[in-house]
Amino acid sequence: KTRPMEYRMAQLEALGRFLDDKKQEILEATELDMGKPSFEAFFSEILLCKNELNMTLNNLCHWMKDEYVDKNLVMQLDSAFIRKDPYGVVLIIAPWNYPIHLFLVPLIGAIAAGNCAIIKPSEISKNTERLIAETLSCYLDSDCFAVVTGGVPETTRLLENKFDYIFFTGSPPVGRIVMTAAAKHLTPVTLELGGKNPCYVSDTCNVANVARRVVWGRFFNAGQTCIAPDYVLCTVEMQDKLMPALREAITEFFGPNPRESPDFGRIVSDKQFRRIRALLGSGRVAIGGQTDEAERYIAPTVLADVLPSDPAMQEEIFGPILPIVVIANMDEAIDFINARPQPLVVYAFSCDSKVVNQVLERTSSGGFCGNDTLMHVTLTSLPFGGIGNSGLGKYHGKFTFDTFSHHRGCLHRNMGLETLNTPRYPPYTQQKLGL
Ligand code: NAD
Repeated sequence: KTRPMEYRMAQLEALGRFLDDKKQEILEATELDMGKPSFEAFFSEILLCKNELNMTLNNLCHWMKDEYVDKNLVMQLDSAFIRKDPYGVVLIIAPWNYPIHLFLVPLIGAIAAGNCAIIKPSEISKNTERLIAETLSCYLDSDCFAVVTGGVPETTRLLENKFDYIFFTGSPPVGRIVMTAAAKHLTPVTLELGGKNPCYVSDTCNVANVARRVVWGRFFNAGQTCIAPDYVLCTVEMQDKLMPALREAITEFFGPNPRESPDFGRIVSDKQFRRIRALLGSGRVAIGGQTDEAERYIAPTVLADVLPSDPAMQEEIFGPILPIVVIANMDEAIDFINARPQPLVVYAFSCDSKVVNQVLERTSSGGFCGNDTLMHVTLTSLPFGGIGNSGLGKYHGKFTFDTFSHHRGCLHRNMGLETLNTPRYPPYTQQKLGL
């Protein structure tokens, strides 16, 4: 039922109507869940999904086509091609930080590739979870697409079933649990995980521009972004120059009291709030540091002179705190990055493109962005995914379609011309061996 292109297109168009009709409710639900500013919700939860949807609708016909491949001399009259088959029933498990985007973008690819899907939104972003559970079925074919709600016990039960593909976005420890469950059925997985994304700032750069781009990426969604720059690596001289520029950018974006800004979000839960607040003891609070538990507010904060052994450097921050770790030079920054698990993204800022290229060349990460933050994720032409501890597999644009398609290698031979086959049949005479 899900295979014909018309069916896939109709379901994808229905997803587009879901985004249009429910736009206001999505903005309200993400506001209730984590005080997500409307612009940030519109940009990340709606606009980026629409881009993926339009690109898929415009290219699906082309992507679905068999891909004919090179042949050898003996097969000139045959066809050799790659068929893009759906896997079957796929499971999509999503986290809470971009609760619409992170189930919808994989779902676009799952539908485009002709699969059925079970969607498991995060129970932590409960208002958005409710919205998805109550309304998505009004748009999609309920024979083939279902939402399952719940937390750890429900997901554990769900994972006991045999799926044909599992697409998981979340933390590395839960990624391991998902992969272990998938291994029981030999189910292939994509794991979109997290980690600590380093941001190297060289001594030669436009400090004001760096500050604005880093502040935007770090404090977007109150820091609860898997690709946020997690910490800055720079020399002590650059730290001194960067600090006033970071302060200025924070004030420019969020005013003198960010707590009153409609453009600065809140932490999703009390548990996350306490975890992030405990990281404030690292280094020295140079900017911000104020908290309010009742509101789950943590001010945009910059920590100076943070040591690698400090708590803020032991785990993914996933909140509005930016530690600065002082290093002596670029080589030391690269060694620092390479001594840690491969991150989802490496950021490097410099007016000298050789420096940016050196950091790219000598490190390994899921993605890379020079002289900006987050923006690489907006390009549907780039694969998005992690490596090592930050994940396995890639998606966005055509990569999502490919992720959810089994590339079936097919050879369809001509029935005649049997004489061409005789050299490979027994008896294997000395003559056939060319002896
Ligand atoms: P999480 O791993 O706690 O939860 C993700 C999903 O897994 C949720 O739906 C949850 O219900 C389920 N889950 C949680 N514990 C489980 C268990 N024991 N067994 C089975 N299922 C379980 O992640 P989170 O807190 O929702 O999200 C934050 C993490 O996600 C961060 O590490 C962040 O970097 C990462 N993330 C990665 C990307 C990416 O694209 N790579 C995007 C967003 C978030």
